[in-house]
Amino acid sequence: MSAQNIPFISQYKPEKQKFWVERLNKVMPDKNFILAEKIDIKSRSNYQYAVVANPAIDELKTFSNLQWVQSLWAGVENLIQPARELGFNILRLVDPQLSNTMTESVLAWSLYLQKKMPSYLKQQSDKVWNELEISSVADTTVGILGLGQLGENSANRLLANGFNVMGWSRSPKNIPGVISYSGDSGFIELAKQSDIVVVLLPLTADTHQIINAKFIANLPDGASIINFARGAIVNDTDLIEALDEGKLYQAVLDTFIEEPLPQQNLYWTHEKVTLLPHIAASTNPQTAAIIVANNMKSIEENGGFSGVAEALIDLKKGY
Ligand code: NAP
Repeated sequence: MSAQNIPFISQYKPEKQKFWVERLNKVMPDKNFILAEKIDIKSRSNYQYAVVANPAIDELKTFSNLQWVQSLWAGVENLIQPARELGFNILRLVDPQLSNTMTESVLAWSLYLQKKMPSYLKQQSDKVWNELEISSVADTTVGILGLGQLGENSANRLLANGFNVMGWSRSPKNIPGVISYSGDSGFIELAKQSDIVVVLLPLTADTHQIINAKFIANLPDGASIINFARGAIVNDTDLIEALDEGKLYQAVLDTFIEEPLPQQNLYWTHEKVTLLPHIAASTNPQTAAIIVANNMKSIEENGGFSGVAEALIDLKKGY
């Protein structure tokens, strides 16, 4: 790979793009990262490597000969189709720091639900002094959908804090202390036992709207859902209906089909929804830039996939 000039393609705000270009150039002084907008359209076919953070797909496609696209995000669903069309490899961000941040978020918001904090906030605003009955942590089962980089670490964090933990993934897993399910029947088995469901699946054709009325119907009454993955994994109409009917206690939502969430969206004002602006596990510039540098070095030195296997997206599976 001859990679001296490397485009940085993103829909971040201009100051954040500038920050990232400076950061990447600092960590890799032998490279020259350039904002995509500064690269002449005609010369864009000369680039083989790009670093991206939620890029506009039309802009990405103008770099028609890319071989490697390194994402600064862990979720890369928007890159799958262009990669299939143009034939480039995708490296997602696999960062222990990001994973650790996600485990903190999963633990924090699971405790928020287990301790009925939304109800106490409501009581405060109504000036109500009333002790609520809560289940102990040991009697609270958290079902994690997706046991990958983020799901497995979150499962272990919850386990270490006394929760009863189960998980679901495509291939069966053996994580000590965590009851693991796979397949359609396993999906429903997990639903039946979960007081709190944490969604940490990638968005693919198989996971699109997998959290729907059928799944929710199998949850115990009063269960809650935390979606830290992607908005389109949840059927919004079904979720709102289940919240309104009292089937579910709460939803903690960090990701949405359209982001930022439009002002008129019902979630903003729904009393059973806690809304977060896609912050469950943000990319850490210090650690992520070093990971990008190490991946590029591996590709340059090994000329292929060795050293980047963990980050490499399987385009057939779509994650
Ligand atoms: P990952 O390592 O690829 O793990 C994905 C997990 O989901 C794997 O266990 C996989 O099963 C399972 N899975 C995929 N498709 C499935 C299916 N059809 N049925 C059952 N299980 C399925 O991904 P990750 O790094 O943990 O990240 C997960 C997602 O979190 C990302 O895709 C991204 O959307 C989201 N994310 C959100 C934030 C945020 O701030 N909100 C930050 C980072 C990431 P196998 O193990 O059998 O393959």
